[in-house]
Parts: sequence; C-alpha cells; structure tokens
Amino acid sequence: MPHAVIVGAGLGGLAAAMRLGARGYRVTVLDRLAVPGGRATVFKQDGFTFDAGPTIITAPFVLEELWKFTGRNFYDDVKLKALEPFYTIRFDDGDTFTNQSDVVAMRQEVARISPDDVAGYENFMRESEAIYKIGFEKLGHVPFLSLGSMAAIVPELLKLKAWQSVHAHVASHVKHPKLRMALSFHPLFVGGNPFRATSVYSMIAYLERQFGVHCAMGGTGAIVQAMVKVIEAQGGEVLCNSDVAEITTSQGRATGVRLKNGERVAADIVVSNACAAHTYNNLIAGGAQKRWTKRKLAKARHSMSLFVWYFGTNKKFENVPHHTIVMGPRYRELIDDIFENKILANDMSLYLHRPTATDPSLAPTGCDSFYVLSPVPNQDSKLDWKALEEKYRVAIAKRLHETMMPGFENHIVTQRVMTPLNFEHDLLSYKGAAFGLEPVLTQSAWFRPHNKSEEIENLFLVGAGTHPGAGVPGVLSTARVLDLVVPDAEAFAHARS
Ligand SMILES: Cc1cc2nc3c(=O)[nH]c(=O)nc-3n(C[C@H](O)[C@H](O)[C@H](O)COP(=O)(O)OP(=O)(O)OC[C@H]3O[C@@H](n4cnc5c(N)ncnc54)[C@H](O)[C@@H]3O)c2cc1C
Repeated sequence: MPHAVIVGAGLGGLAAAMRLGARGYRVTVLDRLAVPGGRATVFKQDGFTFDAGPTIITAPFVLEELWKFTGRNFYDDVKLKALEPFYTIRFDDGDTFTNQSDVVAMRQEVARISPDDVAGYENFMRESEAIYKIGFEKLGHVPFLSLGSMAAIVPELLKLKAWQSVHAHVASHVKHPKLRMALSFHPLFVGGNPFRATSVYSMIAYLERQFGVHCAMGGTGAIVQAMVKVIEAQGGEVLCNSDVAEITTSQGRATGVRLKNGERVAADIVVSNACAAHTYNNLIAGGAQKRWTKRKLAKARHSMSLFVWYFGTNKKFENVPHHTIVMGPRYRELIDDIFENKILANDMSLYLHRPTATDPSLAPTGCDSFYVLSPVPNQDSKLDWKALEEKYRVAIAKRLHETMMPGFENHIVTQRVMTPLNFEHDLLSYKGAAFGLEPVLTQSAWFRPHNKSEEIENLFLVGAGTHPGAGVPGVLSTARVLDLVVPDAEAFAHARS
C-alpha cells in the first residue's frame, strides 16, 4: 500500500486521511500539538469543556458525504443538533435581528426593521440560492489546476457578479443599515472582509436557511474525535507531538518528512494541512518556489486574526442564547481598522458563544461555559499582544457587562485566552491569520494555492489556505478535491512499479 503522510491534524488533514484511507493508502497523520483538531481542538479545564474554534456547523451534508465515502454513517458517530433560531444579532442600540429557518418569520423580522426592504431581501435570498448552486455545488469541488480551468468559469463568475463584494451585493437589494449589516457580515466567518470578499460568499445566507445551523453535541471536538476513530479503524494513525521541520524532496518529488527531533518518515505522497503560506515558506527544503515565493506570499492578503476569551461561570445566564453577535457602534469603519488600518479598536464587535444553552454537559451542574471572540488585525499590525492581552480582555469584559451580561465577571471560575500569538506560534499560521489567505476574488480558485502542489510532485495541500477555503465545509471540501488530483492507491502502486 502506498504511504500517505499528512502534515497537520486539522479538519482538512483528518478529512484527507479518511478519504485516502478509504482509497487504499496507508495513512500517517502528524501534528505538532498535543491533541488533534488544529483550530477545532477542544480543551477541558476545571470541569468545563471548551471548543477552541468552530462552533457553527453549516452544510452537514458535507460531513455526511465524508463518512459515506468511508462506508460509514456520520450519525452513528456524532450527534448534531439543529439550532432554532440560528443566532441573534444585537445592534448597538439594543435592537436585535434574529436569524432563523422559518421563511415567514424572517420576512417579518426584515419588515419590523424596514418594511420597504422586504422585496429586496427576497430578491437577495433568490440570488443567494443561485450563487450557492454555482459557487458551492459546481465550483467548490473543481481542482482549478490550470489557468484554462479558471478561464472556463469566467462566464459563470460574470453571471454571479463575483467582482462585487458581499456588502455591495447586499446593498444593491436592501437599504437599511441594520439589514445591510445583518445580511453581509458572513464573510467574517471565513476570514473575509465583507467589503472586499467576493459576492460568491453571499451564498452563506442561503446555505444557512436551506440546511440549518447546527452544533455537535459534546462540542465540535466530538467530530474531531470521531474522525480520528475512523482513521484508526481504517488502519491509519494520528500521531501528536510530531513537529514536522521539513517536507523532504528528491528530484522535485516529495519523499517524506523530517521531524524537528531528526526522525524521518518516508512517504509516497505528502499532504500538507499546515498553513499553505507556512508550507511554502518554511517546510520545503531549498525553498526556491516558482509560484509561491516568499515575496508573493508576503504581498498577498491574509485574513484577520482573532482574540478569543474562554471562561466558565458558577451560575447560568439563561437569557444569553447559544450564539449572539454583539455589534459595536461602527461597521465599515471597524472592519477597515481590522483589515486595512490594522489598529485595535476599543468599540469592538463580538461573537458570544454559550454552548451550555444547548448542551449542559459542557459545564458542571448549574454552570455555563462561554467563549467570546473578537476579530482583530493579523500580525502585519505589529501589535504587542504580550503587553495588550490583559488590557484587551478587560475592554471586552466591559462591553459584555454593558451589553449582555451585567456583573458576569463576579461569577468567572476558570478562564483562558487565545491571541494572534497562538495562531502564529502554536498553529504556525503565517502572520497569525486565523483563516489563511483572505477570500477575495484574486485569491480564489486558480489564484489560491492549488490542492496539487505547483512546485513539487507528489505534494498535495488541504486546509483553509487552499481551494475552496476556510470554514468547516470549506476545509472538508479541500480534502474532497484531493479525490480528483491524487491517483487511487492501486494506480499509484502500479505506476511506481
Ligand atoms: C476561533 C475560531 C472560530 C471558528 N468558528 C467557525 C465556525 O463556527 N464555523 C466554521 O465553519 N468555521 C469556523 N472557523 C474556521 C475553521 O475552524 C477553520 O477554517 C478550520 O478548522 C481550519 O482547518 P484546517 O484544515 O485548515 O486546519 P487547522 O485547524 O489550521 O490545522 C492545521 C494543523 O496543522 C498543524 N501543523 C502546522 N504546522 C505543522 C508542522 N510543521 N508539523 C506538524 N503539524 C503542523 C497545526 O498544529 C494544526 O493542528 C473558526 C476558526 C477559529 C479560529
């Protein structure tokens, strides 16, 4: 059996391992951290369970398809719960917008804010569906290895008006600033600036309505654990504390990896789930890339970073829903501060996660587990997070106290923070970007690092920095693209002999 070595046990790497295992490869997954999952890792602290990263599961059919590919049923291994409503947006004046699956209730919610915008909203949702049908169903699984394959979709992109930003698309349909915000913020879920991300991401509105917003019972970590079990049942292995220093090559072909401790692991193919920019900048010996040069990567646009504060409380905050977006007073200006000016604002917008609203098993009885997340500039900002960390946490606490949870700090019994430094130094994410390359049109499809390396034979890439991109459905889809670019194990073995 040909041996596939996968660098990184993020969701993309684990999905690649499942697919390659199902296609006859012997699979070894190596991750530098102590536990698998990457951004989707889970940690337990003082009786509380915290998902470090993804909490909103959309497009569950992508997980179903992955499991089916391995001959299993996803729901035998993981319990998903559909959330209703999906989430609440709280505007700075205290008004709210509740996003939910019920079409009539959504129309009423739009009408409550701006009756004149109902028709425009419905047009927007119709276009969101059309974009989904092309953007997700058709283009999400194309490898885009050649410029010709990109040229072939230009008519589709023109039809979708993909040169527009998500915000421009929304603004062409609705006028009220609250609705423009509520319908356009979605690119932030995948590291995109709503004012620059291609309007292809307008599909998220339809994706949510059509397939729901879900959470995994036991936390998103339950999906990671189930993936590891499938890989092990296939005969593969997932080895943590295995820091890859180099992808070894011979005559332009990947031959395996060398770990930081000097150990070498030979491979027939190598799949990197490490940050794509890190892979090309640091993991390939010689580093003389033709396309992904250090200069090109330095000039590229990288997504924003995140500040995440995890905390457990010794009481329940029943009035706080599972997911809330707490908007600050500014929208475009704040986004500009994060993505363009790269400065830290004190009037931040927040995403507040209270999973114990749905799954009390994540905290001791009578307690709640939370995380609050704030998009912040990536490390191009040169912000000194060691000095800023506590100051910024206090600023977030003040905002939460004033908006959602008066007096909550008196009830905190355990806590931890994640800053851009963790993205940069633990996950080895270039510039501390939380979602890899920013999803703009000029960094999408053929323009993104390919799933089959342009530089090295037998080297493949998956994960947020590759096509189609970040987010749980996105990175699972990057692994699905591998089916089209990696030969079956039998064919590979035949060609080798
Ligand atoms: C706080 C947060 C919240 C999010 N919320 C959501 C959400 O609600 N819904 C959603 O769909 N998406 C969400 N996302 C996005 C989503 O989590 C990510 O896009 C996705 O998990 C990234 O997966 P990946 O395959 O790119 O791998 P990553 O998670 O980036 O994992 C890469 C792995 O590679 C390892 N690695 C790197 N270099 C090496 C090396 N040299 N040797 C060995 N190992 C190495 C790292 O340790 C890491 O484990 C969120 C992200 C964050 C950070």
